Amino acid sequence: MSDNLATLKTRMAKMIRIGQAAGLVGWDQETYMPPGAANARAEQSAALSEVTHELFVSDETGNLLAKAEADAVGMDDDLDDVRMLKKLRRDFDLQTKLPTELVTEMARHGSLTQELWKKSRANNDYVGFRPALEKMFDLTRQKAECYGYDKVNGHIYDALINEYETGAKQKEIAVMFANMKPGLVELLRKITESKNQVDEAPIHGDFSVAKQRELTLKAVKAIGFDLSRGRQDEAAHPFCANFSRDDVRLTTRYDEKFLQQALYASLHEAGHGMYEQGSPERFEASVLAGGVSLGVHESQSRMWENLVGRSRPFVEWFFPTIKETFPDKFATETPERFYRAVNTVKPSFIRVEADEVTYNLHVLLRFELECALLEGSLSFNDLPETWNAKMQEYLGITPATDAEGCLQDVHWSFGLIGYFPTYSLGNLISTQLFASVRRTLPDLDEQFRRGEFAPLLNWLRENVHGYGSKYLPEEVILKATGEKLTSRYYVDYMTQKYGDIYGV
Ligand code: ZN
Repeated sequence: MSDNLATLKTRMAKMIRIGQAAGLVGWDQETYMPPGAANARAEQSAALSEVTHELFVSDETGNLLAKAEADAVGMDDDLDDVRMLKKLRRDFDLQTKLPTELVTEMARHGSLTQELWKKSRANNDYVGFRPALEKMFDLTRQKAECYGYDKVNGHIYDALINEYETGAKQKEIAVMFANMKPGLVELLRKITESKNQVDEAPIHGDFSVAKQRELTLKAVKAIGFDLSRGRQDEAAHPFCANFSRDDVRLTTRYDEKFLQQALYASLHEAGHGMYEQGSPERFEASVLAGGVSLGVHESQSRMWENLVGRSRPFVEWFFPTIKETFPDKFATETPERFYRAVNTVKPSFIRVEADEVTYNLHVLLRFELECALLEGSLSFNDLPETWNAKMQEYLGITPATDAEGCLQDVHWSFGLIGYFPTYSLGNLISTQLFASVRRTLPDLDEQFRRGEFAPLLNWLRENVHGYGSKYLPEEVILKATGEKLTSRYYVDYMTQKYGDIYGV
């Protein structure tokens, strides 16, 4: 390794460690921080963000990177160091386009707006939230202009989504949704009209938070989330945060009347968490550590939540534990009734609780609204009404309040704009990966029935997690499945599974 590369690595490690500390104060804000600390926390977040940004975009980093690149000329393209330099170059070029003031302003405004969002959602007060939201979109537009995009054939969205899914394009995503939408709407129509409806009774009742906490911890531990290098807490909006591969935090949210929410949110976040825990040790505190993109990340969470957690074999295995935790409730229930209940398809207002069939329609709605708000073809005054009209058009229901409409997601409040489609990409990738897993592990269902999840996790460690961020998302998909991303497996999965449950 050249001296330049070694110095560059040390510098990047420092930046990444400070970034991890910034992540930790962000996690605390969402879990244990007293509300009165909001202003101080906003300043702390802004200060840490400023330090990491300046460390990264400095001339010193640029010079070291250029020298290390020169030293690496002629080296094998597949070497970790060569890949690291490539990733660093992409990140550096992207980041140096952003002025420090804009980065700091976005962090500060994001932190404050996130607090405002909590209050606004609780009070159903879109009007009070609107100016802060509008400012966040303004800042995001400035960010996109700094990044730059093809003004003739491209879209402002391209500049934003590239941050989360390298190389993704608005036009291609619009095509992906266009290919999926008619089939989903048709499947939803058939399901809604089916005579073979699902009884949701098994997942409604009285479920104490303490018991649910116990149950969700058993579930995440059983599938392979390592609690000696992670933990689970409570937050308003479930998420997974990590501050190294050895400190991965899940959050979930409990509803005492509805068992499905916390259990499946936990499995989902544990899917994200296990991806991070599976990042190779040799990549620690480097840009190659951790999940490669939001789309691939979401493929891991959706796989454990849906393809595993909502499968018949998983439910058959876990049902006795559920029954043991809530004996009165489940005395006369069966695994099959529970399986059907957790796979209920019913248009609902809240995306994070949406079933597999309607989920992508929620994402489509946000994608279209984000595009329109960024283009300026939709005004912020009209956002709630337009949101509600699209809900009616795609899902056949209209939110009664903005809290269950355009105020439901936290993401826009802190500037996560241009990333929602990665949820849908995640669904497609998860089914494609799972088809590949099944070819290698034909007795997967039998393993699940026995509560054995290590073979699946090991396959993922080897074919997805073990790459960290060394390769591009499309390279990971190709390596793991032998083909490019296609919606075929997703459509097959949906049609078969829900055809069986609803007899359509
Ligand atoms: Zn997720």
